[in-house]
Amino acid sequence: APVDEVIAALAVDVPDFPTPGVLFRDLTPVFADGPAFRRIVEGLASPALEDPRAAAVAHADDGVPGDPGFDVVVGVEARGFLLAAAVALHAGVGVVPVRKAGKLPRERVAADYALEYGTASIEMHTDSLHPGQRVLLVDDVLATGGTLAASVALVEELGAVVTAVSVVVELAALGGRDRLAPHAVHALWTT
Ligand code: 5GP
Repeated sequence: APVDEVIAALAVDVPDFPTPGVLFRDLTPVFADGPAFRRIVEGLASPALEDPRAAAVAHADDGVPGDPGFDVVVGVEARGFLLAAAVALHAGVGVVPVRKAGKLPRERVAADYALEYGTASIEMHTDSLHPGQRVLLVDDVLATGGTLAASVALVEELGAVVTAVSVVVELAALGGRDRLAPHAVHALWTT
């Protein structure tokens, strides 16, 4: 089956979580399924292979054998961590965390953002990316795009380049893709 059907079949919709009126897509059963998790990791690592919208801009170094198109995977706390480490291992590159405020011990950059529900602040270590480094940014769900837009801002503040943003699920009605433009968003399931 296509990967979007695999995800849709295993994801569980939870009404009114974490607050009334929010329909929460719980992906933990998707990640718990071995074959589904493998499909997801491979899909997230290959933004230009499956999505023509991403293919147009994703790869600065197309044609270099063995080059996945990015030098490092950046994952967003906490569900993005489950994915980013696996994607990095699959692609043969390193993994760097975007963390909630107060977790990183050394010099850091910070960005505040509005969530679908509430507000938050995220941080990266100042030396966690290098100027010009090509970044694949990974999270589980793209909702309003606030989290990933703040993550893009941190990556770019450090001088690195976001070559693509990969997510498992895009909640299209919330407009996150437009908010992240001109960055290419690669979603394995858009709903
Ligand atoms: P955004 O900033 O795009 O509005 O929200 C995205 C962030 O909130 C992601 O880090 C994601 O984990 C979380 N999130 C928002 N809605 C959902 C949802 O329906 N399901 C899951 N699993 N996470 C969500």
